[in-house]
Amino acid sequence: MTAERLDLRPWWHLSAPAVARHDGKPLPERADVVIVGGGYTGLTAALHLARGGAKVTLLEKEELGHGGSSRNGGLLHPGLQWGRATLVERYGAELGRALFRAGLDAAPRAAAFIEREGFPADLRRSGLAVLAWSRRHLPGMEADLREMNEEGLAGRFLPDAAAAREEVGSDHYHGGWAIEDSWMIHPARYLAALAGAVEAAGVDLHTGLPALRVEEERGARVVVTERGRVRAGKVVFATNGYTDAALPWLRRRILPIGSYIIATEPMSEELAASISPRGRTFWDSRWFLSYWHVNAERRLIFGGRASFRSTDPEKTARILRKTLAQVHPQAAHLRVEHAWGGKVGFTFDRLPHIGERKDVIHALGYCGSGIALGTVFGMTVAERILAGPGSSRTPSPFEQVAMPGAPIVPAAYRGDPWFLPLIGEWYRYRDRRDRRAR
Ligand SMILES: Cc1cc2nc3c(=O)[nH]c(=O)nc-3n(C[C@H](O)[C@H](O)[C@H](O)COP(=O)(O)OP(=O)(O)OC[C@H]3O[C@@H](n4cnc5c(N)ncnc54)[C@H](O)[C@@H]3O)c2cc1C
Repeated sequence: MTAERLDLRPWWHLSAPAVARHDGKPLPERADVVIVGGGYTGLTAALHLARGGAKVTLLEKEELGHGGSSRNGGLLHPGLQWGRATLVERYGAELGRALFRAGLDAAPRAAAFIEREGFPADLRRSGLAVLAWSRRHLPGMEADLREMNEEGLAGRFLPDAAAAREEVGSDHYHGGWAIEDSWMIHPARYLAALAGAVEAAGVDLHTGLPALRVEEERGARVVVTERGRVRAGKVVFATNGYTDAALPWLRRRILPIGSYIIATEPMSEELAASISPRGRTFWDSRWFLSYWHVNAERRLIFGGRASFRSTDPEKTARILRKTLAQVHPQAAHLRVEHAWGGKVGFTFDRLPHIGERKDVIHALGYCGSGIALGTVFGMTVAERILAGPGSSRTPSPFEQVAMPGAPIVPAAYRGDPWFLPLIGEWYRYRDRRDRRAR
């Protein structure tokens, strides 16, 4: 595999319509809702709020889609980081099961929204195969699939390497599971279409304008920027892995973690079929996981955690290229044309959260799975605000779990996860150990 002319822009950016900038506009004195962050979460919330009659101002410190929302892996999939048994053990039968169900439902809800809006985003019901990196992972994966099956999500267990081979053109895996109800999408085309709809709905958009802090003024919230202050009935932080010092409370609850992707040159139909005979999206069960698919232009989009150290897309491209060649030797000759990265937002309980403190709402923490969840969280935030106080609306289960701070000494964590390289070494050890296990 060669890497000449490595372009460090996300392939998605070059194959999506440009998203309009909204720089230097005057700020209003007040808005019903000020949203901070212009990704899927903030934009979906803005769209539904504006259509519900609210006066919305959205502040994005870079450009719309600067964060994960235009640079992700394109797997619009169901599920959370935890299985049903763990959620029930932690939160009790009712809430645990509701969280699990809501995690599964987010994907079809987001896909239905994108279809209903007619967004040209290459949405395709591709199915998903999750592949066992170690034999040791198979019993847990079988249990995960059983739980999903019991909640009505059909899928099939892949008990061994031969069964995995039917889903993925690789001898690298020991089995896994596959489901049909999972989608792939062009992330930046989705973002661009969503941004267009938000503009058309009359949302007051501002780019290149960070929210610096939120102050309290005679009982109301005021969002402070370098170009003025906006009084807001509610403020929404939809900043996920890009959460900064504007809201220190929130920053102490989010772990920004790098995720990286390479995109190859387009391949032949035969090679695409040999990699993904059923046109699936994939990820594997390693801690240093890989996720990949052959996209609409038949480029291999291959991503992974690659490194927990501070790094750059050129270094991670070398790591990803090596992994790709191990998983799919038949694609090892393909030229890698693009390499990029971005930040995902993990939480200390590895669950996403919606919550509110003194009229400041947060909706984030998707732990690497925010295409479906971010879309649905945006809708949920809008429903919550439009319903108003004292409504009989049933809150989503994600609104019922408080967002925890760091364990042991919460006050010592201020948003700089210095300990990630250590965790990375531990994960690397576990990957090696599990792979060797018979
Ligand atoms: C490389 C990569 C691959 C991924 N792959 C997948 C995948 O295949 N499937 C999946 O489901 N998810 C994936 N994700 C995760 C997914 O992209 C995110 O969870 C999702 O985009 C989150 O959307 P969001 O709107 O909440 O946040 P983001 O899109 O990250 O947007 C947050 C925005 O907030 C802005 N912001 C932050 N602070 C301020 C401030 N003070 N003032 C103004 N603006 C501010 C930032 O500039 C940013 O634009 C991936 C992420 C990455 C980085």
